[in-house]
Amino acid sequence: MALIVQKYGGSSVADAEKIKNVARRIVRTREEGNRVVVVVSAMGDTTDDLIRLAYQITEKLDTRELDVLLSTGEVVASTLLAMALHGMGHPAISLSGAQAGIRTDSAYSRARITNIEPRRVVAELDKGNIVIVAGFQGITEDMDITTLGRGGSDTTAVALAAALKASVCQRYTDVDGIYTTDPRLFAGARKLKDISYEEMLEMVTYGFKAIHPRAVELGELFGVPILVASSFNDNPGTLIKKEVSMEIRNKVRGIAHDLDVAKITVVGVPDHPGIAASIFVPLAEAGISVDTIVQNASIKNITDLTFTVAESQLAGAMSVVRPIAESIGARECVSDARLGKISIIGTGMQNAPGYAAKMFDTLSKANINIQLITTSEIRITCIIEEALVKDAVIALHRAFELETED
Ligand code: ADP
Ligand code: ASP
Ligand code: MG
Repeated sequence: MALIVQKYGGSSVADAEKIKNVARRIVRTREEGNRVVVVVSAMGDTTDDLIRLAYQITEKLDTRELDVLLSTGEVVASTLLAMALHGMGHPAISLSGAQAGIRTDSAYSRARITNIEPRRVVAELDKGNIVIVAGFQGITEDMDITTLGRGGSDTTAVALAAALKASVCQRYTDVDGIYTTDPRLFAGARKLKDISYEEMLEMVTYGFKAIHPRAVELGELFGVPILVASSFNDNPGTLIKKEVSMEIRNKVRGIAHDLDVAKITVVGVPDHPGIAASIFVPLAEAGISVDTIVQNASIKNITDLTFTVAESQLAGAMSVVRPIAESIGARECVSDARLGKISIIGTGMQNAPGYAAKMFDTLSKANINIQLITTSEIRITCIIEEALVKDAVIALHRAFELETED
């Protein structure tokens, strides 16, 4: 009997009818002769609603209390799903993250799973139960409840699949797979049959909101294949796995975009050792993550230093950088919050020349100015004006013929 872990996201359990629909799908998997562990997210926008509610109580939230509050969303969904299964005559039990043995560190709101002791889960499976685990949460050594960061139920599911040595982790959502680009942005996006962990990780890091990054990392680390499919139909999904099987025609596999980009330029910086450290060390200490960094070649020992941060961190970053810029004798410090990022991604690009040239040429023909460029072995990213991101995605999708089957 195979062991399958299924994860249903918030959109799949948004109301009572949808919960019953999910229960029917679970029963089908069970009746096909599998042992089933299910991880659920909170219903619909519950997590956002709870956060809003907490802010109505106080501006300064206590992170420990907030994590307990948010964890309840997943507990509600898991109990209702167990009840739906009982109603259909199937033995099922819901477990909180703590009951399922999910141990984490104590970094509230972004805890990492340190280990899983799945004894209770295994015991319930042995009794013939379908086990429903509340996603997104765990417990510390001191028995405090933690949450794993937004979208963290994906990580619960893959980590459980690894701990239980499940044959696959099936992630069910409101789209039937991973598309070449966000289907909400461009209707011409095409569903991929499969994609490598490496490509998927690069895509989620550079803007695909399709799955939690940590889930992909764990999948790769423990060799858990992850199927992304819809809970609303039976279309074949996308399998995230080690290597994509065939020699694929398209070396670019997807186009990621991110609208949450702001740029800071420190203009006229005297170029001597220690300048970069004097800016980036305090930024790191303030908890601001810096993405792209570009330093111009200096002319007469004066240079410009440009870097990007998330829009939400721009004000914080400027308040750190402005006084430093002044103290190191820079001419000025300017920012622009209306930027976006587009990336072409594919492992095949690493041994094939010409992809950067084609990307730049396509953007230039679409009259889109590139402000910054960064690359990895399997990715080329351009920072452009936010308002042009959609046009850029569509132009690149056409230029790299992503509509066409592999
Ligand atoms: P859930 O409610 O199941 O947790 P999520 O919001 O976490 O759902 O993820 C599903 C959403 O991810 C889809 O509605 C889709 O619009 C979005 N998405 C973004 N980029 C992509 C992509 N490249 N392929 C598929 N879905 C994507
Ligand atoms: N409910 C949590 C969130 O909305 C976790 C999840 O859905 O995976 O972020
Ligand atoms: Mg989600």
